[in-house]
Amino acid sequence: MAAATQPHVMVLPFPAQGHVIPLMELSHRLVEKGFKIDFVNTEFNHDHIFKVLADKGAIPGGLHMLSIPDGLGPADDHTDIGKLVQVLPAAMFSLLEKMIRSKKIKWVIADVSMSWALELANTVGVRIVLFSTYSAAVFALRMNLPKLIEDGVLDETGDVKRHEMVQLMPPIDATEVPWVNLGSTQERRRFNIQNVLKTNQLMALAEMIICNTFREMEFEALARLSNALPVGPLVAPASGPKGNFLPEDLTCLTWLDTQAPGSVIYVAFGSSTIFDVSQFHELANGLALSGQPFLWVVRPNFTNGIQEDWFKAYNDIVEGKGLIVSWVPQQRVLSHPSIACFMSHCGWNSTIEGVLHGVPFLCWPYFSDQFCNQSYLCNVWKTGMKLCQDKRGVVTRKEIKNKVAQLLGDKDIKERAVRLKAAACESIQEGGSSHQNLLKLVNLLREQ
Ligand code: UDP
Repeated sequence: MAAATQPHVMVLPFPAQGHVIPLMELSHRLVEKGFKIDFVNTEFNHDHIFKVLADKGAIPGGLHMLSIPDGLGPADDHTDIGKLVQVLPAAMFSLLEKMIRSKKIKWVIADVSMSWALELANTVGVRIVLFSTYSAAVFALRMNLPKLIEDGVLDETGDVKRHEMVQLMPPIDATEVPWVNLGSTQERRRFNIQNVLKTNQLMALAEMIICNTFREMEFEALARLSNALPVGPLVAPASGPKGNFLPEDLTCLTWLDTQAPGSVIYVAFGSSTIFDVSQFHELANGLALSGQPFLWVVRPNFTNGIQEDWFKAYNDIVEGKGLIVSWVPQQRVLSHPSIACFMSHCGWNSTIEGVLHGVPFLCWPYFSDQFCNQSYLCNVWKTGMKLCQDKRGVVTRKEIKNKVAQLLGDKDIKERAVRLKAAACESIQEGGSSHQNLLKLVNLLREQ
């Protein structure tokens, strides 16, 4: 009898940290089910990931890390999302075609932010599943963008024409539509909107839309999508790489062990949020004033102009009550019993990871889908509170101190967070909705 061939899938993330991590987590699940995965990073990110990995042998057999150029020059900023969106299709398309042909790949799982790759279905006949690194609500909003333009809420350049609440699930202000607030310039905003409208036309080529969410949490949004399969929350692999671009500082876990249960504020704003110096100081003072212990992730590029001396002086002020590190194993931190709440920019991964661990949120969104996720947390699931800006656009130390006290004193919020956690855990257990959906995905991908 001929041996069954190992099912083989190419995975294509958008080259940013919040996209590489969940697609790596999905790849680990598929490797556990016997798949061979070709994980295609840009050369820039591939090099970063391998620098972080002290032990390259930690990558499981079956997961092959490949790379192709991103189309930017050596002097360019390879983390500039707006620029990457513009150059990636031309830089990658024919290289992907070649790779798919030479490796005889039958399936690609492409990040929704790489929807242009759906054209590969036409050119090389590969079958494609899209993976949404955003909520199902944001995917539904994306498909509804032409209607928002038709209704005169936005125009085709991304300018808001009618200031009103967009009453999808969850409700958001028209200015908070991701592709409106994403562009740093009018030109980029126009490009983003046009890009979404153009790639929306290709969606019929996707055999399925995989979402890192679960049915019980996004019931309404999922009902708007005929072809979506929620498989989340995707859990970080217990060992091996998750595609981090920065090394994890594991000392934070031993520090958390010394803290009282339910006492620590975990403060982290994902991989790309940048604070100006005055807002940085306001946050530092707010945390000190809160009187609670805190674990604060300050990435190397988190702010400009803070000297090494400042960290030493600040540590003296907070008398060791706070720990600042540059990158943590976030899912392990969130699952630690000492964590009381998560002060977060509300990126979708952070949102769903916080949900999975039953942690109440203090929401501090900056751009893209983060406002939509904040609306879910504060208005729909009611497991978070919003940190409000003053008239100057600053979240003050007083606001931080007050909201921390308010959140930690609110038993109802904690109870709702614990209930949502229970639903999340149930969905990924054997027989749960996301678990069953993952098996459906596996069966589909086995059609080689
Ligand atoms: N993350 C981490 N360590 C940190 C901070 C963040 O591992 O110190 C991970 C986090 O668990 C999440 C991802 O980085 O999976 C950030 O994704 P998210 O969508 O929350 O934000 P983005 O970086 O895309 O803005």
